[in-house]
Amino acid sequence: MSLRLFDTAARSLVDFQPLAPGHVGLYTCGPTVYNRVHIGNLRTFVWEDVMCRALRSLGLSVTQVMNLTDIDDKTIRGAVAEGLPLREFTDRHIATFFEDLKTLNVIPAAVYPRATDHVPEMVEIVKKLTERGHTYESDGTFWFRIASFPAYGKLSRIDPSSMKRGARVADDEYEKEDVRDFAVWKGAKEGEPESALWETELGKGRPGWHLECSAMSMKYLGETLDIHTGAVDNIFPHHENEIAQSEGATGKPFVRTWLHAEHLIVDGEKMAKSKGNFFTLPDVLSRGYSPRAVRYLLLSVPYRQKLNFTFDALRGAASAVERLESLDARLGERSGAADAAAASEAFVAKVAEARGAVRAGYEDDLNTAAALGALFGFVKEANTSLEAGQLGPADAAAARAFLREADGVLGVLPEGADASLEAEVEGKIAARQEARKRRDFAASDAIRDELAARGILLEDTPQGVRWRRKG
Ligand code: AMP
Ligand code: ZN
Repeated sequence: MSLRLFDTAARSLVDFQPLAPGHVGLYTCGPTVYNRVHIGNLRTFVWEDVMCRALRSLGLSVTQVMNLTDIDDKTIRGAVAEGLPLREFTDRHIATFFEDLKTLNVIPAAVYPRATDHVPEMVEIVKKLTERGHTYESDGTFWFRIASFPAYGKLSRIDPSSMKRGARVADDEYEKEDVRDFAVWKGAKEGEPESALWETELGKGRPGWHLECSAMSMKYLGETLDIHTGAVDNIFPHHENEIAQSEGATGKPFVRTWLHAEHLIVDGEKMAKSKGNFFTLPDVLSRGYSPRAVRYLLLSVPYRQKLNFTFDALRGAASAVERLESLDARLGERSGAADAAAASEAFVAKVAEARGAVRAGYEDDLNTAAALGALFGFVKEANTSLEAGQLGPADAAAARAFLREADGVLGVLPEGADASLEAEVEGKIAARQEARKRRDFAASDAIRDELAARGILLEDTPQGVRWRRKG
C-alpha cells in the first residue's frame, strides 16, 4: 500500500503508515447536538465515512470514533429555551443525527461517545495540566495558559503573539490573564441549569468544548492517534487547542496526520445555520431527490475542494447514480447464474486494470473524483460491450462483482437482495486473491476480517475460496 494523505500540520502530502501496522485509529469531530444537522455538516460526515471505507478497501482496518458534543453554550441555550433537562434535549437531536447518517448509508463509527458521559476523564486531564503548570484558576474557571506551551500555533500556523489583548473572543465574560488563553473547565455561573453542571474535584462547573475531544479521543484511541479529522473551520481554535491540552497533559505527540475537509458552500458562502442559507437532509429529500443522489454529490468532489451545492449538481449526481444502477441491473440479467470466476482472461485483465485505477485514486489523498473517473471509464466500456452483445455471462458476472466491490466504498447502489451481496462478496474475494498474489497479506487479512465482521466466513478449499454465512 502506498497511501499519501495531505497533512494539515505539514501542509504537504505525506506517506501514510499507521502506528500499528494495518490498523488505523481515526478520530472524527462529531456534531453539536442542538438541532438537525445541515447538508454542509453531512458533507464532512459522508466524507469521513468514505474515508473509512476507502482505507478498508486499501487493506487497512479502521477504528473510527466520533464524539457527540452534547454540552456547550448552544445545547444549554436550546435546553433552557425548551424547558428540558439537557440530556432529554440532546437525545432528540442525536436521534435525528443518526437517522440522517442511516439515510445516507453511512457505516456507523465504532463508538459515538457523548461528552457528558466523560466528565471524569476530562477532570483527570485538567488535573494533569494543572500539575504540569499549564493552567490557572480564576473564579472557578480553569484556563489553559498558552504561554506555557511554546508549540501553540503549530497546526494552524497562527502566531500567538498576533492575537492581541483586547481582541473579542467568545469567553470574554470570564477573568483571564491573557486574551489568548482558553477555558478547559468553566466554573458554574448564575442561572445555569443544574442538568448542565457537574460537582467535581475542580469545583462545580462544566467542561470546555475543546477538552471534550481531547478526553474522548485519547480514551478510545490512545494518547497518539493516527488520523484526526474535521472540516477546515475546526483547525483553529478547536484542533489547535486540542493539541495544546493533549500534548500538555501527556507530553506525547497527539496526532500523526491531520486531515481537514473544505466546506460545502452556497452562492460562494459557507452553508451555516447562522447564515440561514442551509438545507437539512429532509429539506432536500422532500424535493424528490434520493438519498443516494445526495450521497453521491457529497462524495464526488475531492475533500480538499469546496463543494458548491446547487440543485443542478444534485440532478447530475442522480443521473450518475442512475447509470451505475442501470448497468448493475443489466449485468445482473446478462450474467444469470454464471460464475464470475469463469470470466475470460482478457476481461479479468480489464477488471484488474480498472480496480488498480480506482485504487490509485484513493491512494492519492483519497481522491474520489479520480476513483470515479476510473470507474466510469469501466462503466462506459462495459455498456458498449453489452450493447454490442460482446459480453458473455461470466464476464458480465465479473463486471457486476467489480461494480459491487467499487460500491463498497461509494455506497450508492440500492441495498441489494442476496444476489447483490453475492456479487459484492465475490468481488471482495477476487480482491483478496489479488492482494495475496502481491504478497500484501495485511490487505488480504483485512478483507477477510471485514467480511467476518459482517458474518461472512471464507474457507480456502482445493476448488478455490468458498464463503458462507456464520451460524
Ligand atoms: P458543528 O455541529 O457546528 O460542530 O459541526 C459539525 C461538523 O460539520 C464540524 O466538523 C464542522 O466543521 C462541519 N461543518 C460545518 N459547516 C460545514 C459546511 N458548510 N461544510 C462542511 N462541513 C461543515
Ligand atoms: Zn472535536
